[in-house]
Amino acid sequence: MEITLVGTGSPIPIPERGGTSIVVDVADERVLIDCGPKTVYGLMDAGIPFGEIETMFFTHHHLDHNASFFHFAFTSWTDGGRESLTVYGPDGTDRLVDALYDVYAEDIEYRQDIYPTDGISNIETELVTDELSRQMDGWDVDAVPVEHSIETYAYRFTEHGTGSSFVFSGDTRKIPSLVEFAEGADVLVQDCNTAPVDEDRVPDADEQFVWQQHAEGEGDLNQSTLTANHCDATDAGEIARDAGVETLVLTHVMPYRDLESMRRDAESAFDGDVLVAEDGLTISP
Ligand SMILES: [Zn+2]
Repeated sequence: MEITLVGTGSPIPIPERGGTSIVVDVADERVLIDCGPKTVYGLMDAGIPFGEIETMFFTHHHLDHNASFFHFAFTSWTDGGRESLTVYGPDGTDRLVDALYDVYAEDIEYRQDIYPTDGISNIETELVTDELSRQMDGWDVDAVPVEHSIETYAYRFTEHGTGSSFVFSGDTRKIPSLVEFAEGADVLVQDCNTAPVDEDRVPDADEQFVWQQHAEGEGDLNQSTLTANHCDATDAGEIARDAGVETLVLTHVMPYRDLESMRRDAESAFDGDVLVAEDGLTISP
């Protein structure tokens, strides 16, 4: 199994981090989880031939997890040569695919004249409505609901041949059922949205656009809504410790955050390996 963190950012765009997307190479398959802003460019930067991706999963339908779906669906088909796609996800997944066919009907017809495969018409959706447990060819996938501001799922992937296991938390506040779900996983990639700002990471406003609210530690943003729907690094460390995972990866990183303090906070609760995600990071459990 190999896990590539293609995009590790948040809804607030910064040049060095795309929105959430993760590629899992499991058994003989290449699977995509979420498809946030910049995913197609991130897949290219990571050297992943993404026309091979014919299975994808959405944790939830917030913009920073799905905004590149149309771009991915087109480019993986046209020049990528993708022949089919099965899209798993919560309510909204079906409407997203319907919107592709509705808004882009003429564009699709035009491109079907140019490109030889049926990859754009062979898209199926599988709605995840509660818990999900599927045996695939050489691997299993399980899903459980987590607690965010909208319907959201965590996913667990298990490779039959090696026994390797990987859990992605989705976006969630800290809940006991996530600990149970992640038990004994080799790798837990965990939402860690709330963290202090590091002033040294704020770019010079003369050289680059700066999100001032975030540079000043969120300004007048409603912190309680953010903290009620996400984990911080201490939460992440406690989840990793209680689940007994091997490696914890902190992701969903907001702009200008203090990455060292994130790592320290997680390590204060958890003895295993702690990584702060960056776009393109690859982990092989
Ligand atoms: Zn979210």
